[in-house]
Amino acid sequence: MTTQSLKAREELEGRIKGNVLIPEGSGYEEARQIWNAMIDRRPAAIVQCVEADDVPPLIRFAKENGLELSIRGAGHNIAGNALCDNGITIDFSRMKNVRVDVGKKRAYVEPGATLADLDEATQAHGLATPVGINSTTGIAGLTLGGGFGWLTRKYGMTIDNLLSVDMITAEGEKIGASETDNADLFWAIRGGGGNFGVVTQFEFQLFPVGPEIFAGLIVFPFIQAKQILNKYRQFVESAPEDLNIWVVLRKAPPLPFLPANVHGKEVVVLPVFYSGAAAEAEKLIAPLRAFGKAHGEHFGAQPYVAWQKAFDPLLTPGARNYWKSHNFTGLGDAALNSIIEFAGRLPSPQCEIFIGLIAGAPNRVPPGAMAYGHRDARFVLNVHSRWEDAKEDQKCIGWAREFFRASEPYASAGAYVNFMTAEEGDRVAAAYGSNYDRLREIKNRYDPKNVFHLNQNIKP
Ligand SMILES: Cc1cc2nc3c(=O)[nH]c(=O)nc-3n(C[C@H](O)[C@H](O)[C@H](O)COP(=O)(O)OP(=O)(O)OC[C@H]3O[C@@H](n4cnc5c(N)ncnc54)[C@H](O)[C@@H]3O)c2cc1C
Repeated sequence: MTTQSLKAREELEGRIKGNVLIPEGSGYEEARQIWNAMIDRRPAAIVQCVEADDVPPLIRFAKENGLELSIRGAGHNIAGNALCDNGITIDFSRMKNVRVDVGKKRAYVEPGATLADLDEATQAHGLATPVGINSTTGIAGLTLGGGFGWLTRKYGMTIDNLLSVDMITAEGEKIGASETDNADLFWAIRGGGGNFGVVTQFEFQLFPVGPEIFAGLIVFPFIQAKQILNKYRQFVESAPEDLNIWVVLRKAPPLPFLPANVHGKEVVVLPVFYSGAAAEAEKLIAPLRAFGKAHGEHFGAQPYVAWQKAFDPLLTPGARNYWKSHNFTGLGDAALNSIIEFAGRLPSPQCEIFIGLIAGAPNRVPPGAMAYGHRDARFVLNVHSRWEDAKEDQKCIGWAREFFRASEPYASAGAYVNFMTAEEGDRVAAAYGSNYDRLREIKNRYDPKNVFHLNQNIKP
């Protein structure tokens, strides 16, 4: 055990209610696992907080001892900044409570909650707010970077529905932020990630959703990719905003509605989500069947919370992952050609290219309204390289990088910080575009010493 670990345990245990986990102590190895198995970091102490008051002593201890501080929501960020080497990890995995005020349609969410925690609590009352598409993702990291999913076309990004936060600053002070309280800070945290302080509670606006929605998949042969993507981009131009359709190009998983000889072959999958009246759904999706000759489809009414978990089996923790991402205002022919070329040579059975559709409510927010400013983006492309064996690192990372460069000329400016890897620090200023100068100015006021630097860092 390092001196720092022992000192942390000795000094902190009397001052906080949470658990201090140190190497060689029980629970430590499990607590240092995060979603992306490429990250292997060993904090001096992982502190599992149980209340907001646990946080200020941790910040003070790290500063007094010159230690790095990292913050862990649900540990899904690809860059792995939830953990640090030899520093203090503020771990919120024991703070997952979600309280719903049904009358006001508000949710009050602790920073360790996952999407599943939020969805399950809100859906008990037929309510929801837009979040991502994998239920084990953390609300904290997702929200602070932006957040989008099936409900985004209709109700906006997750940050568009964030009403307030409780935070602890770099000075260990408890403050609130909202449109009327520390408004500059509230502007900055809506997209600016964990750069400005530690959020201990999020307050969200909720909307009536489900609890049953209509959703499913239609799967086409890869050979028809050009025609499918062509028809897709035309179709979504005029599709209503409560209908969302994404595109996934990958090798077919063994889905029961697909013929066995299709399993493992390249396919084009259109995941479809409709939150409007069920009677309308069949009419709305009928044209999709004329996009091509499908291998199979599986559609129907189902609980919103079930659909929110539909992709979890493909996105389990423990694999090696490397991502690259671009925003697009439109999908031109050259962009589609590039997507099809690289989807035709996937380097592993788990690699995929997905196109998320976010056209709608997010585009009606002015780009300067908050730190996340990509209000012209209608599609988000993610090159998701995923594999099991470290021997394949070079091949799988190389494929993602090559595709990223090839598709770059067709992308719009900016980038989604939640999809950026640890090596993309030089992309941060570009990611925020014209909002970057204001972010730096706010960083200078709230964290001039860059205590919170394990993130897509806005340098003071
Ligand atoms: C399988 C998978 C599916 C995804 N799907 C989507 C999707 O559909 N839509 C989408 O928008 N994104 C999606 N993402 C990206 C996701 O939004 C980011 O990875 C996000 O950062 C994850 O949040 P987390 O709390 O789990 O991450 P963590 O790794 O725990 O945290 C990420 C960073 O956020 C900061 N942070 C965390 N908690 C706090 C806090 N309480 N206070 C201050 N800073 C904090 C820290 O800087 C930390 O390093 C997905 C990611 C994965 C792995």
